[in-house]
Amino acid sequence: MLRTQRCAELLAGLVVERDEFGAAFRPLKEQDAGPGTRTPRTSTGGHESTVLVGSAQPVDSRPGYDRQLMIVAFDADDTLWHNEDQFDETHRAFESLLADWATPEEVSARLYDVEMRNLSRYGYGAKSFMLSMTETAIDVSDGEIAGADVARIIEFGHAILDRPIELLDGVVEVLDDLAHHTLMLITKGDLYAQHARIAESGLADRFWRIEVVAEKTTETYARLLDLHQVPVDDFVMVGNSLRSDVLPVVEIGGRGIHVPYHVTWAHEVHEGEPEHDVHTLEHLTELPPLLKEWNR
Ligand SMILES: [Mg+2]
Repeated sequence: MLRTQRCAELLAGLVVERDEFGAAFRPLKEQDAGPGTRTPRTSTGGHESTVLVGSAQPVDSRPGYDRQLMIVAFDADDTLWHNEDQFDETHRAFESLLADWATPEEVSARLYDVEMRNLSRYGYGAKSFMLSMTETAIDVSDGEIAGADVARIIEFGHAILDRPIELLDGVVEVLDDLAHHTLMLITKGDLYAQHARIAESGLADRFWRIEVVAEKTTETYARLLDLHQVPVDDFVMVGNSLRSDVLPVVEIGGRGIHVPYHVTWAHEVHEGEPEHDVHTLEHLTELPPLLKEWNR
C-alpha cells in the first residue's frame, strides 16, 4: 500500500478542528464532540474561529479530570519518537553532495542561513527542509547543480517523510503510568506531516487534546491554556527542546521538564544557562516518579 494512501486512511480516523489562525488543527476524539457541534466559536484575542467538529472545553469538564493532578503536555518529535537523528544524517549526505563546491562546514552554515530565512515562509518540517536544501544547492554551486542531484535532495526529503514512526524507549510504559493525568500533545511543524505521524504513532487516544502549532512561544502556550481553560499552575510541559518546550512554559508560570534527545538542531539550542529553574531528566521513564512527588 502506498504510504500516502495509508496516511490518508489514518488521517480519516481523526476528527479535525481548525483554530483561530487557520494554521493549527486539532484531532478531537469522538467522545469530546458533544451535542451542538459545528457551532461557530469566538476565540479569545479577537480572532474568529470556526469549530468544525467538537468544541474547546475547559479541562475541568473532562470526564475523569482530577484537579489534584498536574495536566501533562508532551512534545512529540524527539520526545515521543525519533526525528532529529535522520535530519542529522541527511545533513551529512547533503554536505557530501555539495563536496565539489564547498566544505561541509560552509555547506552547513549556508543551509542554516537559508533555513532561518525560510522559516517565516515555510515553517518547520521535512518539506521546508527540502526546499531550503534545494535553494542552498543552487546557491552554493552557482547554479551548476545537476538535475540528478536535485532529484537526490528530493529523495532525502521523501526518506524523512516516509520514515516509519519509531517510538523512543519506554514511551508507551510512561504514558500508561500517567493515564490518570490529563495528557496533552503539543507539537509544532508541518500540519499534514504531523497529523500523519500522530495517527501512525497509535498514541492519539491517550491525549485529551492534541495541538499542532506553527511555533512554540510564550504566546502560543498562553493561547492554548486560555483556549482549553487549563490553569497555568497545574500545567507541565515535557520536551526535548529547552527553547520551545520548556522555557516559554516556565516564563508564563507553568512547569517545564527537559528530556534532552541525543541530537539537537542548532535552531533549538538554547545559548547559555537558562534563567529559570528547569527540571532535566535523563530519560522519560523518570517522569512518573517526579510527578508523583509533585502531586503529593
Ligand atoms: Mg521536539
